[in-house]
Parts: sequence; C-alpha cells; structure tokens
Amino acid sequence: MKNISRKWPVRFEVFILRIFFLFAAIECLASSKALVGDAIIDGVSRELIFNSAILVKDDRIIGIVATDDIPLGYSVIRLERMTLMPGMINGHEHPLLHKHDYQNGHLQASSAYKALLGLATMQRWLQHGWTTIRVMGDGDIFYGNQAIRKAVEEGVFKGPRITGAAHYISTTGGGGDINFLSPEQIVIPDGLIADGPDEIRKAIRTEIKYGSDWIKIMVTGAFHSVGDDPKNIAFSDDELLAAVSEARRHNVPVAAHAHALEGINKAVRVGVRSIEHGTYLNDESIRLMVKHGTFYVPTIYVGDYYANSGKLLAQGKNDDPYLSYRAEWLSNIGKAHDAGVKVVVGVDLGGYSIEPEAYAREFATLIEAGLSPMSAIKAGTSVAAEMLRWDDRIGSIKPGMLADIIAVQGNPLEDIATLEFPTFVMIGGKIVRTP
Ligand SMILES: [Zn+2]
Repeated sequence: MKNISRKWPVRFEVFILRIFFLFAAIECLASSKALVGDAIIDGVSRELIFNSAILVKDDRIIGIVATDDIPLGYSVIRLERMTLMPGMINGHEHPLLHKHDYQNGHLQASSAYKALLGLATMQRWLQHGWTTIRVMGDGDIFYGNQAIRKAVEEGVFKGPRITGAAHYISTTGGGGDINFLSPEQIVIPDGLIADGPDEIRKAIRTEIKYGSDWIKIMVTGAFHSVGDDPKNIAFSDDELLAAVSEARRHNVPVAAHAHALEGINKAVRVGVRSIEHGTYLNDESIRLMVKHGTFYVPTIYVGDYYANSGKLLAQGKNDDPYLSYRAEWLSNIGKAHDAGVKVVVGVDLGGYSIEPEAYAREFATLIEAGLSPMSAIKAGTSVAAEMLRWDDRIGSIKPGMLADIIAVQGNPLEDIATLEFPTFVMIGGKIVRTP
C-alpha cells in the first residue's frame, strides 16, 4: 500500500514535466522564426545578402545566419522568389488629410471622423509595408493622430509605429492658415496659428504637452494651400529662433517646411533637424546641410501625383512652378545626396483618398533624382531611422533591432516598383501580412 501511494506522485511529476516541456517547445516554435527569402537587404550593407535567414525571437531580430545554420526550435517561414528588407519608414505624412482638397476636407469633417479614417489609412499603410510613420501635422483641430498612436501602442488596434507632430505651426496667412474665406467667416484653420516668439513658444509647449515628439513649422508658404506663396518666408528671424530654442529646451527636434531659398538656409543655420521639401535649394543650402548634419526630406512624388490633376483648390498655384522647375530640383536633390546630405523618404500624399500603393513611388523619384536603388531604400529605412533618432531600434536588420521586416516579389534593386505591393509584413515580430 505504501509503495503504491509513492508511485503515483512520481508518475504525476513526470507527466507534468512532459506537459511543461511540450508547451515550452510550442512556445519556442511560436516565438522563434527563421525568415528565408531569395535575398536580404539589411538596410545598411552595400550589397544583397544571399543564402541566409533572418532569425526572430519574440519582438526582436536575433541575427542573420546561413540557411544551413538555422538553430533547432525555429519555425522556418519560406518566402520564395522574394527579397526581405526592413519595414519602410515614411518620414513625412499627414494621415488625417482625408480628401485631395484637404483644406475644405478639414473644414467639413469632425476630428472624430478624421481619426476613424486616419486609423483605417494607417492600417492600409501597414499592410503595404510601411511600419513607421512620422506625422508632419494634420488638418485637425484636436489630436486625432495622437489618439491613434496611443490606441496602437496600447494594442487596441494594429497599426504602424507613429511619431511626429500633431499640427503644423503656421503664422497668420501662412501655409497652415485658411486664406480663402471672407474676413467675416471665423474658422479654426488646419494649421496651429501662432504669431510672434511668445505665441510660437506657447504653441510648441502645447504640442509637447499633448504628445508631439517633433515640432513642425511652416517657415515659408506652401504649394497646395490657398492664398500664400511658397517663395515667401512666413517666419521672421526671431520667430524661427524662438521655435528652435524652445523645442531644443525640451529635446524635441524641429522639422521645417521650407520652399523659398532663404527660408531653407535660415532654418538650417538655426539648427532644425530636417528640411521638408527644400524646393528652391542651392549650393549654399547643400553646403549648410552638410555642415549642420541636417536631414533632407524632399517629398517629390506628391507633386507628380497632383500635377494637372484638377483635384486641388490651389491647383493653378501648384502646376506651373512645380512642372517648370521639376528637372532642376531633381538635379539639386541628386547633388545634395552626392555631397553627403542625408536624404530621407517622405511621401506627403495625405491619407484616406490616396491608393495605398502610391506611397512607395517616392523611391522611384529619388532614383530619378540620381540616388542608386540601394541608396533610395536606405533613405526609407536606416537613414530615416537615424533622422527619427530611432536607429537603435528600427530601420535595419541587425541583432537587437525590433523585428519590422517586409518581403517583396523579386529584386527591388532591379524593379523598385515591387515596393508598391509587399507580400509579407512583420511588425515587432508579429506577422500582419502573408503571401
Ligand atoms: Zn506635408
């Protein structure tokens, strides 16, 4: 009787142990994946990497190993005739601009409606391989983009990583103001309007208070807004200085929308982290950007997309200057890149009204400007991550990085258009799209 009573607990222990190891093995299989495609672009190397697998455990990249050396316990995901690369980073976007005619769209829709469409837009972008978005302000009175960011970070919804500025800060009559209504009509513009150093400091403090980790300022007029001139400088010298010094006190970087040459050069000199558009840059701007380490986000394709489309309220203002100057601008972008300016992919197409495959066409326009296909891909991965100060976690396939990995058909170095339709998307180790 004594012997029997001792036997049962031992068998039970073995049984429990077996169950434990079985679950541990299943867990290991589930969280440890080896991704095998035809080739790997790691985001930093000059060449493709062949005959290799990317090892992922939980949300992180463990490393790249030869396909023969995949350790036991990894579940192998084969992506035949595909190239693996880091998830794409869009360095300039406006997820809540839901209509082509975005200033009227701003006036017509509630913040809640914009946020709902913005969430749907962000999810489409993730499905199309964009794993990180830098928001450069939105036509939204409240903070819809911050609400999306919060809900995604809390795991309520799937979506890309989001950083950036909730609003673009504009002076009265500038690129973020509504300049097409009569003076009797009082509306709240799409941008955050601030005049003079004190109002600009207050606007920056408010942006940071509600979660912006970038400050976006409209230093010059814009092409797609009504009633202002992209060749004019909107910010005075003291306003520009106040913006950069206030943001710097909070360790928050500044992105400067600037078309006019003097606006570009002044913004670089006072120390903004990135120049957006930089349309009328010259050799002096290039020299200054190299000297100050300023990132350059040209956002070319949006001009091509809207040229002669008839979809913009400011269509007339956009077409002639853009089309007549395009070749010279592209040549200057190529020159800037050759001189050592860090050029970054930013798309600037806006949100819901745009077909999600269109965004990756920015890579093709950078190649047209003179970047090699590999340099263009780096501009939308590792260089973009460096601009965000997130290069310790995203933008390349290296040990310890977050597993934001996509796969595209064939070889994007031979056909860059393949980036428009990624076939596999993983964010933070979780697969959100499979072939
Ligand atoms: Zn923009």
